[in-house]
Amino acid sequence: MSTRPQAHPSGTVLHGAPVVAGVRYGPVVRPGPAPTDDDPAATPADPAAESDRFRAAVTAVTDRLRERATRTTGAAAEVLSATATLAQDRAWLGAAEKLIAGGMPAERAVREAVAQFADLFTTMGGLMAERVADLHDIRDRVIAVLRGLPEPGLPLPDVPSILCAKDLAPADTAGLDPALVVGLATSAGGPTSHTAIIARQLGIPCVVAVGGLDEVPAGAMVLIDGTAGTVTVAPEPAAAADAVAAARHAAEQTAHWSGPGVTADGHPVAILANIADGTAARAARQTPAEGVGLFRTELCFLDRDDEPSVAEQAQIYREVLEAFPGHKVVIRTLDAGSDKPLGFARQPEEPNPALGVRGIRMSRGNPGLLDRQLAGIAAAADATGNQPWVMAPMIATADEARDFAAAVRAHGLTPGVMIEVPAAALLADRILEHVEFLSIGTNDLAQYTMAADRMSADLAALTDPWQPAVLTLVAMTARAGAAAGKPVGVCGEAAADPLLACVLVGLGITSLSAAAAAVAGVGAKLAQVTLTHCRDAAAAVLASAGPAEARTAAAAVLS
Ligand code: PEP
Ligand code: MG
Repeated sequence: MSTRPQAHPSGTVLHGAPVVAGVRYGPVVRPGPAPTDDDPAATPADPAAESDRFRAAVTAVTDRLRERATRTTGAAAEVLSATATLAQDRAWLGAAEKLIAGGMPAERAVREAVAQFADLFTTMGGLMAERVADLHDIRDRVIAVLRGLPEPGLPLPDVPSILCAKDLAPADTAGLDPALVVGLATSAGGPTSHTAIIARQLGIPCVVAVGGLDEVPAGAMVLIDGTAGTVTVAPEPAAAADAVAAARHAAEQTAHWSGPGVTADGHPVAILANIADGTAARAARQTPAEGVGLFRTELCFLDRDDEPSVAEQAQIYREVLEAFPGHKVVIRTLDAGSDKPLGFARQPEEPNPALGVRGIRMSRGNPGLLDRQLAGIAAAADATGNQPWVMAPMIATADEARDFAAAVRAHGLTPGVMIEVPAAALLADRILEHVEFLSIGTNDLAQYTMAADRMSADLAALTDPWQPAVLTLVAMTARAGAAAGKPVGVCGEAAADPLLACVLVGLGITSLSAAAAAVAGVGAKLAQVTLTHCRDAAAAVLASAGPAEARTAAAAVLS
């Protein structure tokens, strides 16, 4: 067994989508290999006998899945039963039978029939596409039985291990022992894949869609961080142990925090969730989040070439409003352009898209797009009785804020804007003459303040939200809000860092919105400090020379 990764140097950090919080360190284990695709080519002598062999193999696989389902409970049992049902699906069985009747060996017929349906599921997208892993799992199990091989799947590790795979089959994940499989990472899959569902049920720290994971061999030591969404290959063992201990300590502290957001001396600060659709909103509802501080609506439509109708939009927004009845929900209008192009929004070819027609600027060339979205939001508000706040991305001038506010008010909704462009932070007081609230997007504010691409790993030190220049603009915006008596929240990644969140409160920020996984950590930290601590930390941070000094200064006051 190799103990060193082959393709990645020690300390390489691989990035993916965080699913279940927690930090773990251990050796990689990988599921047993799927059967190779060197299926027999010769036509079987007797297609009827081949068909019997095929049916017997499918029955054996289905029975085993059902039997495993009876040995577990909850989502794991449901997933195993659903896979067993899919194994018996008439459509794919019929397609395979037809190929066998035409003289194809059973193994090849299984592979081709499954490929046909996997393509169909992928084209259908969404939840169907996420069932492709289940189809492939069924294929591999049936072929293994046809060949008389042991079922492919997970060997029982003998030490606590991190299970890594392309995409785990439900049968592999459902029977996992969380004492032995202490972390899960996949290179494919999405946050609603079965791997993710089961990892949540079992409480196993999990990251999906990890780039470069397939090159990490079994036996390599890795550190998985289910909050940050990273897998670090062969880290320094002592540093890895420290990271695990620190995360455990933080988890113990946050486990009992149930909201609402308030400092130790009673200063309230709403702690909200950033979401992308109804599913994410319902998941956020399971956390102590007091509402939604940022609904990134463009993420619902990235795969669309045609503009969703007002009714279709209303249905999507309604799902989010229904997840938080009677609670604050802030909907952001489409932030298309730059790294989030929308097929149906006419966008010019631009040499420098991050500085181009994106966010609110898009509505200039697409008259009606904003208005139809506002109509969809208003319809969702009427249907649910929950009145959301509505904000525009990428506002740069008070005139843009004025025009946006007029459009929002025309639909009976409450307008606000995001502060992501330094120009808007500098003149926040003038913008506040037109809108009811501000929400600071620190991701873009850092990008534009530091003139550093937020996507660039090389420039990550510049786009660090602890940069005193960025926090100075946050402070200016918060002061303008206080003077106008209007709320100023932060919904960029800065709000997900518990220490920085306290600094933001000290700067005068009135609400914090972060990924659902970060909500409890931020709330628990805030509950341990007073408003005076936060203000002292904020003053120390503003006086710092750079991010490292700022962090140290804040930690000295707040820890
Ligand atoms: C931000 O820029 O901080 C923000 C919240 O918007 P997004 O990350 O979607 O650009
Ligand atoms: Mg932004």
